[in-house]
Amino acid sequence: MTAEFISVGTEILLGNIVNTNSAFLAEKCAQLGLSVYYQTVVGDNEERLYETIRTALERSDIVILTGGLGPTEDDLTKEVTARVFGWELLEDAHSRERIQAYMEQYQKNRPDRKITANNWKQALVPRGAIVLDNDNGTAPGLILEKGEKRAILLPGPPNEMQPMFMNQVYPYLRALQPEIIYSQMVKICGIGESQVAEEIADLIEKQTNPTIAPYAKTGEVHLRITAKGESEKECRKLVKPVVRELKERFGKNIFATDESKTLEEAVVDMLRDQKLTLSLAESCTGGAVSSRIVSVPGASEVFIHGFVTYSNKAKRTSLGVKKVLLKIEGPVSAKCAKEMAKGGCKAAGSDICLSVTGLAGPGGGTDKLPVGTVFMGCCYNGKTVVNEYHFTGNREKIRQQATAHALAFLRECIMEGVRKQE
Ligand code: ATP
Repeated sequence: MTAEFISVGTEILLGNIVNTNSAFLAEKCAQLGLSVYYQTVVGDNEERLYETIRTALERSDIVILTGGLGPTEDDLTKEVTARVFGWELLEDAHSRERIQAYMEQYQKNRPDRKITANNWKQALVPRGAIVLDNDNGTAPGLILEKGEKRAILLPGPPNEMQPMFMNQVYPYLRALQPEIIYSQMVKICGIGESQVAEEIADLIEKQTNPTIAPYAKTGEVHLRITAKGESEKECRKLVKPVVRELKERFGKNIFATDESKTLEEAVVDMLRDQKLTLSLAESCTGGAVSSRIVSVPGASEVFIHGFVTYSNKAKRTSLGVKKVLLKIEGPVSAKCAKEMAKGGCKAAGSDICLSVTGLAGPGGGTDKLPVGTVFMGCCYNGKTVVNEYHFTGNREKIRQQATAHALAFLRECIMEGVRKQE
């Protein structure tokens, strides 16, 4: 079964907003075993939208449209799709009630906002369409079915589109499939994408059912193993030996086999399990590692102090890094990272401290110390180990990579327990 996406909105076409809806839908459709060959972006123009929907319905079984369901004149998706299907628009009493209730709730905080005539435009639905309730906004979603073809209309804002898709469209699409699709995720850190690809090249080459799809994230590689079969039991049986094989090949670098688990959650879980407290001494990441740690609910059980020591003075006064060391070795050096981690442990009174100091650029690089050089230290049980990294890309990219690798390094240090003396 094939699916394709149409993202409606001139602002996407002009690059004012990034098309994250299509990326989200692409990943979900892959999970559902749907083949996606086309994605289109089209502006708020009636004739071009009409042609785009018509063409998409000719070549794909399922066409998912996002955006253009709002109350204003340039929101045309529903009207144009109804025209392609040759269906008239009628008011849906259920949708009208929900819009009324939503607006009344909204008015409690914003009494100045009135329900305007165009709000009721959102209660119009093509006759015969399945209506999808919107729990986070006013525009209902719609499913139009004609023969083997289906158009699915979803609101543009991701906070409305994603829950509507997951709660209502995902089960609908799953039920359409003659076979059960089952997938499991294996999440890897501490090894680059190309190394992972090389180590599984043989598995990918001979794959049929299940398939292995790699997704590269900053500092992580996710492998999705997807099987098709007559029952979930049969699919699980197909997936199991592949996961076992991946565990053998990647061992400790696998931080999760659970779809929703993040690297920071894995780190916080390990600290909690081992009853360890953490502090972080950050320079070039400016608190980004701390921010990821505190995004985990319950992080306060393990995380006690985050130092952002951007200047030399801060490294001296907060972490006790010696002036002479900063002068001779410089703040971006293995020795400074080591002293930062040791000083962090002492100042915070934590069991473990991870430090990050590096050159995010764009300026300041030399032949000896190019932009992207980052040192990280980890102090645990009075012993400290230091790693050196060389990241590429712009300032933002370097900082993101440093943050992700800091979490991977921290995880590795906790896992290994007592570290060897540097
Ligand atoms: P609304 O009722 O809010 O007008 P809508 O369904 O008409 O919803 P649009 O007006 O097309 O949707 O888009 C509203 C907002 O949703 C955009 O300003 C943008 O922030 C977000 N959005 C729309 N399409 C996308 C997309 N493809 N990817 C990411 N965000 C999007």
